Amino acid sequence: MKLLVPVKRVVDYNVKVRVKSDGSGMDLAGVKMSMNPFDEIAVEEAVRLKEKGVATEIIAVSCGVAQCQETLRTALAIGADRAILVETDAELQPLAVAKLLKALVDREQPGLVILGKQAIDDDCNQVGQMLAALTDMPQATFASKVEVADGKAQVTREVDGGLETISVALPAVVTTDLRLNEPRYVTLPNIMKAKKKPLENVKPADLGVDVAPRIKTLNVSEPPKRGAGVKVPDVATLVDKLKNEAKVI
Ligand code: AMP
Repeated sequence: MKLLVPVKRVVDYNVKVRVKSDGSGMDLAGVKMSMNPFDEIAVEEAVRLKEKGVATEIIAVSCGVAQCQETLRTALAIGADRAILVETDAELQPLAVAKLLKALVDREQPGLVILGKQAIDDDCNQVGQMLAALTDMPQATFASKVEVADGKAQVTREVDGGLETISVALPAVVTTDLRLNEPRYVTLPNIMKAKKKPLENVKPADLGVDVAPRIKTLNVSEPPKRGAGVKVPDVATLVDKLKNEAKVI
């Protein structure tokens, strides 16, 4: 069984991003970029499924600028077998990414697509669900445990009130939550090996997909600055402030 693992190049989670002065978006000049953390978890899970003998091949896919190759090389170093870069300089919104992935699903026929539940840059949480709709595959989102056997995936999902375990027939779409696994460290020998693994380059037009944006960003702004805290002398003052200033009790 083939596994398709989409990986997005995003601003590194340690970077404190700044909003551009004209409010048109984030200032990404010179900012460190990395693989979306949920996608690292997805690659790790795919590698574990291969190590268990459930999967035979792992294909990592990234859609975006030429530098996404670095993200794909990281996926190859974690353990993916080959990679596909869908290269474009266009701004890619979740529907466009889902359409590109659908074209690759049609071509590669994977038994399972494992994606991150959300990209930490746009926080959309849409691509997995849209891909499931476009391909008519069942979906199991926010996975904290995945077991594959007998043409089915049993997926434990993190829901508000606790955990829900569902069974979906393969091929299916699974999106990863934080507690699914802890991705392994990428070792130097594996980074070297990854350089020799195949990386195919295609364009959205080769896949017959129009990636034109459907959503226009009107404005991006920083959250309001938090005011400084105050020390209160005793519980009575605290209760008084909560009642009369914050008006929360
Ligand atoms: P989102 O719906 O944008 O929050 O993204 C959810 C997941 O879709 C991510 O964790 C990735 O696995 C995948 N994804 C989103 N954008 C891309 C992209 N440009 N290239 C590859 N995978 C992507």
